[in-house]
Amino acid sequence: MPSLLIIKMRRYVIAGNWKMNQTPTETRSFIKTLAPLVKGKDNCDIVLCVPFVDIWVAAEEAAGSNIHIGGQNVHFEEKGAFTGEISANMLRDVNAEYVIIGHSERRQYFGETDETVNKRLKTALAHGLKVILCVGEMLDARQAGITEEIVSMQVKLDLAGVSADELKNVIIAYEPVWAIGTGLTATPEQADETCGTIRAVIAKLYGKAAADEIIIQYGGSMNDKNAADLLAKENIDGGLIGGASLKPDAFTAIVSAAQ
Ligand code: PEP
Repeated sequence: MPSLLIIKMRRYVIAGNWKMNQTPTETRSFIKTLAPLVKGKDNCDIVLCVPFVDIWVAAEEAAGSNIHIGGQNVHFEEKGAFTGEISANMLRDVNAEYVIIGHSERRQYFGETDETVNKRLKTALAHGLKVILCVGEMLDARQAGITEEIVSMQVKLDLAGVSADELKNVIIAYEPVWAIGTGLTATPEQADETCGTIRAVIAKLYGKAAADEIIIQYGGSMNDKNAADLLAKENIDGGLIGGASLKPDAFTAIVSAAQ
């Protein structure tokens, strides 16, 4: 039997989430190392979402390369008395193009809810940022067989009030919480199934054309060993990568797997 050839019309997006790692000095030398390694690998978009203080240096070092820079959160207000928060204007001013919103660590440790995720997302889009929206179920939800319900609800609530036009600047990262930073990866089949569920929700909300276009990433212990199998799946259009994005060689191997 000839194997089924899946031709993807969507462009892969491989994004690193550095979390709270790397100083500005380390960032400069990391990008100096990474840029030549990924040079010419133009069949996917490459993004590094770095700590706020690193964005300026990262954008400066990445200028002229195929690496794009983003932040890891943004506040929904324009400015004001919100100690410790960052505005969309501030991100744009330091040349961030992307921002992660709703990462499970923000939801788990910093009290983010679907309501605040939705507000942050709308503000980011209004300021021309591209958003990587994270959704995903906890282990008990997967074990209870309610992954589909949980993830569908998150997508609906997080995208409430977002127009079809604005959706073009949204990437959805499906990140099962039990797979993040644990070394446990969803099987390619599990990941593909839930990414397919998300695509079906988008089809219901925005129509088939939008569902066919939207980039849906998998995230959760993706690495140089498992990336190719995950990225080969029909509904998986890229990865959001934590640990392995801190290693230039491993991250480059994932970028290569998406070519
Ligand atoms: C993440 O931070 O979004 C993530 C997927 O982390 P890791 O790859 O380390 O599991």
